[in-house]
Amino acid sequence: MEKLKKEIIEYAIKSGFVGCGVVGIDDFPEYKNALDALIKNFPEAEPLYRPMYNRTLIKERVPWARSVIVCLRYYRKYHIPAQVRGYIARNYLFDCRVPQSPEYLMVKGFADYLREKGMRVRKGGVPDRLVAYRAGLVSIGKNSFAYAGKYGSWINIITYLVDAELEPDVAVATSPCPPDCRICMDACPTGAIVRPYTVRMDRCIAYLTYSAPLPIDEKLEGKMGRWVYGCDICQEVCPLNKDTWEGKEKLLYLEEIAHLLTPDALIKMDMKIYQDIVYPLFSYIPLGDIERWHRNAERVMRLSAI
Ligand code: SF4
Ligand code: SF4
Repeated sequence: MEKLKKEIIEYAIKSGFVGCGVVGIDDFPEYKNALDALIKNFPEAEPLYRPMYNRTLIKERVPWARSVIVCLRYYRKYHIPAQVRGYIARNYLFDCRVPQSPEYLMVKGFADYLREKGMRVRKGGVPDRLVAYRAGLVSIGKNSFAYAGKYGSWINIITYLVDAELEPDVAVATSPCPPDCRICMDACPTGAIVRPYTVRMDRCIAYLTYSAPLPIDEKLEGKMGRWVYGCDICQEVCPLNKDTWEGKEKLLYLEEIAHLLTPDALIKMDMKIYQDIVYPLFSYIPLGDIERWHRNAERVMRLSAI
């Protein structure tokens, strides 16, 4: 199995991932404890956290799984079109689930490779950051984002449950944050980072832009700034991310539609453009909720007019 694990990791790196490791199957009690604490402290946010318990029931949900293979991809290499900078958060711009993304095939191809090796495979459904941490691939910042050395927090964690018994790796990293740093906490406009390593999802601008029940509390909405979809503030201000963005590679499909993603264009977006172009790339806002895009864009335009 050592040989198989070595082959898997080598294949992952050759495919373009920047890290790959293995974690044993577990029900992740520390993740469950964190959810328990969040619900206890913020009962009003319980409906948001409750579905996440599913990720802790791996043995029950996927009884055939024996290991989790976890891979890291990075997106700091990509160019951010000027039209969307500061409006749409980077992670969503470079989403590898979009078939046009060059990394879509890398992620899918790796699952195909594991199947060719004779493994049963299921993608995702585990607490990704915790798994990557346990595999020694990342450390967790006080803003709750996963950091991977020179790639900063501009990474995605991709997980694959497999039925092969592989030697698990061990966590090596402790917190990457200097003990007295609280830059991200102070910079968060909505106070969502309530204490180090604890983010209140129901206050996070990312959630407020795409999932929060409408209308959003006026006070909170007033703090959402220019973000139309997602928010990067606590990552952008973080010294661990200083000089980590390369931004050289252009994604043609994104460059070509960037003019449709400005607040000005989004206010006027009709259903055809939404259905054919915007929704396939940014699907956290449901197809039936074009109004939310209009509303987010209007908020930003109001700010621009001030
Ligand atoms: S993503 Fe934005 S709103 Fe959410 S915790 Fe970070 S700074 Fe705060
Ligand atoms: S801003 Fe400071 S405290 Fe926050 S994640 Fe970065 S290093 Fe850690």
